Amino acid sequence: MAETIFTKIIRKEIPAQIVYETDSILAFKDINPKAPYHILIIPKIEIPDLRSIDGVIHSELLGKLIDAANKVAEILGVKEKGYRIVINCGEEGGQEVYHLHLHLLAGKKLGWNPA
Ligand code: AMP
Repeated sequence: MAETIFTKIIRKEIPAQIVYETDSILAFKDINPKAPYHILIIPKIEIPDLRSIDGVIHSELLGKLIDAANKVAEILGVKEKGYRIVINCGEEGGQEVYHLHLHLLAGKKLGWNPA
C-alpha cells in the first residue's frame, strides 16, 4: 500500500492539530473542516479503506476506533448533543486519502444531503 500524508502525520513528520492519541489511534483536526468540529480518527497501522477490513481480524481495532470517537466527542464537549461519523470509501464514496479514517463532525445541527 502506498504511504499517504496520514502516515507522515502519525510519524510527526508534518504538523497536525492532535486532539487525542493512543498507542494505536490518532485523532486530529481536519485541515478543511466541513462542520464547526471536524476531526479525523485514524488507526496508526496502514489500512487503505473500509474494503480492506475483515470484521473478525480487525474487530479489536474497530472497537478502538469507536471508543476513540466517543472519547474525542467527550474532549470536544459534544458527546451529549451528538455527532456524526462518516467513512468515505473509494472513488464514488468520496475518498481522497487511502488510509482508513473516520470523520467526526459536530457542533451544529447537521444536514443530510450527500449530493
Ligand atoms: P476523505 O475524502 O474521506 O479521504 O477525507 C480526507 C480528509 O483529509 C479531507 O477531509 C481533507 O481535508 C483531510 N486532510 C488532507 N490532508 C490533511 C492534513 N495534512 N491535515 C489534516 N487533514 C487533512
